[in-house]
Amino acid sequence: MANKTKKILLETSDVIIENKEYLTELDAAIGDGDHGINLARGFKKLKEKLENETFTERNELFKLTAMTLISNVGGASGPLYGTAFLNISKVISDERLDLDDLVEIAEEAIAGIQKRGKAEAGEKTMLDTIIPAAESLKQSRDNNLDLETALNNCLETAAEGMKNTIEMQATKGRASYLGERSIGHQDPGATSAYLMIKTFITSYL
Ligand code: ADP
Ligand code: MG
Repeated sequence: MANKTKKILLETSDVIIENKEYLTELDAAIGDGDHGINLARGFKKLKEKLENETFTERNELFKLTAMTLISNVGGASGPLYGTAFLNISKVISDERLDLDDLVEIAEEAIAGIQKRGKAEAGEKTMLDTIIPAAESLKQSRDNNLDLETALNNCLETAAEGMKNTIEMQATKGRASYLGERSIGHQDPGATSAYLMIKTFITSYL
């Protein structure tokens, strides 16, 4: 299981690195134009570490991801994503994950982000992608949907969540300094969160 997880984390790193400019452009519109640069720096470092070490358990991989993002990503997003990955490392097992496990993982990630950043849904942040995605997984679990359908629904909901940030006014983070002028732009963190969720899901299926 550790090998597959390592592959997924390497793919996630590549996707973030490929989208460095796009994420930075989004941040230039409502922040300080460094989101892609920040994340690409952290994920580049993560790639190096992943490629040079061997891992036997999934939780080690998530802990390494957390620590690498916390110490190499400048800006608000580093500690926020770092705490999310750290929380995931505490609950993830080496078994094949079922929907209950995925719901738990998503809830832990959200709890980490909220502990650090104190944001709720609707404040135009990464949580506006992640919270609806987690809700979708919960609904699928409660309706006994199969894993593949659940993951496809989750991905669709994450994309909607990301797009819904366009119409939101930011009330947390740097974009909140713009007040109403933050409306009309897609949130960079909601976008990077979508790219990560998309990569996790497509490489897991
Ligand atoms: P900075 O704003 O310090 O330059 P980044 O540009 O790397 O950091 O990240 C900005 C993103 O971080 C935002 O688009 C938003 O999604 C996310 N963010 C900012 N503050 C919070 C918060 N309190 N809770 C959740 N996400 C946040
Ligand atoms: Mg920024």
